[in-house]
Amino acid sequence: MATEYETVIGLEVHVELATKTKIFCGCSTAFGAEPNTQTCPVCTGMPGSLPVLNRQVLEYAIAVGLATNCEITRYAKFDRKNYFYPDNPQNYQISQLYLPICRNGGVEIETEEGGVKIVGIHEIHMEEDAGKLIHDDWEDCSLVDYNRSGVPLIEIVSEPDMRSAEEVIAYLEKLRLLIQYLGASDCKLQEGSMRADVNLSVREVGAKEFGTRTEMKNLNSFKAIARAIEGETQRQIDLIESGEKVVQETRRWDDVKGESYAMRSKEDAQDYRYFPDPDLVPVAVSDEMLDEIRAKQPEFRTEKMKRYKEEFDIPDYDIEIITGSKHMADLFEAATALCGQPKKVSNWLMGETLRLMKEREIEAEDLRFSPENLAKLVALTDSKAINSSVAKEVFEAMFEENVDPEKYVEEKGLKTVNDEGALRGVIEKVIAENPRSVEDYHNGKEKAIGFLVGQTMKAMKGKADPAMVNQMLKELL
Ligand code: ADP
Ligand code: MG
Ligand code: ZN
Repeated sequence: MATEYETVIGLEVHVELATKTKIFCGCSTAFGAEPNTQTCPVCTGMPGSLPVLNRQVLEYAIAVGLATNCEITRYAKFDRKNYFYPDNPQNYQISQLYLPICRNGGVEIETEEGGVKIVGIHEIHMEEDAGKLIHDDWEDCSLVDYNRSGVPLIEIVSEPDMRSAEEVIAYLEKLRLLIQYLGASDCKLQEGSMRADVNLSVREVGAKEFGTRTEMKNLNSFKAIARAIEGETQRQIDLIESGEKVVQETRRWDDVKGESYAMRSKEDAQDYRYFPDPDLVPVAVSDEMLDEIRAKQPEFRTEKMKRYKEEFDIPDYDIEIITGSKHMADLFEAATALCGQPKKVSNWLMGETLRLMKEREIEAEDLRFSPENLAKLVALTDSKAINSSVAKEVFEAMFEENVDPEKYVEEKGLKTVNDEGALRGVIEKVIAENPRSVEDYHNGKEKAIGFLVGQTMKAMKGKADPAMVNQMLKELL
């Protein structure tokens, strides 16, 4: 009988924190600036410059630790991780090895069978990001951009508790949502503000010991992660089945080719000659600071879902989708506060918003229209100033460019004509031009009226209230 294998996975997740300035200096973290315009002696590793910890980094790290049920280290330290690479100007990265800020946590994930499972968190530490090497544009040299050097990161190291790609994705989604709710990062895999390294080994089902693991880097979407897990699991099983050994190494997943290749043999902590950074004082976390951060923790998803159920009369399905994104929840709450119509706001989110998101392949965090404009659109349809098909057209413009619906309707002349006199003239003309349908209607064919409504709407260029047209038609027939 064929041997059955089990996949064992632990993740190292890097998250770029949403601070305005870098972790050890006052340089901006804003994305997209000209290369090397957001740098100073500290983040370019000039001798004699001294780092000072950004307090906001510490607060975010602790907040994430509390949200993931970690113990907060009250006396934490920074260590130097020594290695040479051109994107690392100091020749060491300031990180935490011996006394990381958070330890021994865990988050609940839902399993495929519908149960819950806890994925342990070994530790969370603070560290600085490296610069960026640019190889592509020149043939004879590589250039380096230090704008990213010193951007604050937290690294969340899980226990090897996951057993499938589904569990890995559930864990990442859980982390991402918690961190987005905290406002600590936007956690975009594609843009690199959340990056996951996958440590994976296989073992025979029932075995006590773990197998030898590899670590895969360069995974920038959930789909790539799922494919990489599948590919690497099979590669390791094939090795073992053919009597070879899995080598502990770092591999790069090539999502286009659908295979991974070895980057370097796995380094150990000793290889980095870690030692406490003498330039930074230890971090003492006081009771007051901890209480303050605890008091500032936001309402997380479970509580939010409960409150929505009590406060707004909207279906569970809507609640599930809306609270599944911090940005959508914010949009929903703000628009509802402005127009007082939770169900109508939710309908726009569940209907046109999701449809266009799917069509344009964008995520909820990337929605650009404001709650003010959504509330205005709800008010315009409520007051029957525009009909529902015009509203869809306006919504699409709003979705694309966050246009102000009132102005848009005004400028494009989309307001429904509620002037009975004007409408009557058009309807009389439609009746005169369609004697066959009029006759059908009088002979009891109720459907004929639909055609006449359609003709009137067409003549009105869509700017009439179909219910009103219907009623007036019946009167005039
Ligand atoms: P290092 O710091 O050298 O990369 P760690 O022991 O801190 O190694 O582990 C890094 C990650 O690898 C953790 O997320 C851990 O859960 C995971 N891991 C450790 N051993 C295994 C294994 N045998 N199989 C799968 N994952 C593992
Ligand atoms: Mg590691
Ligand atoms: Zn700087």
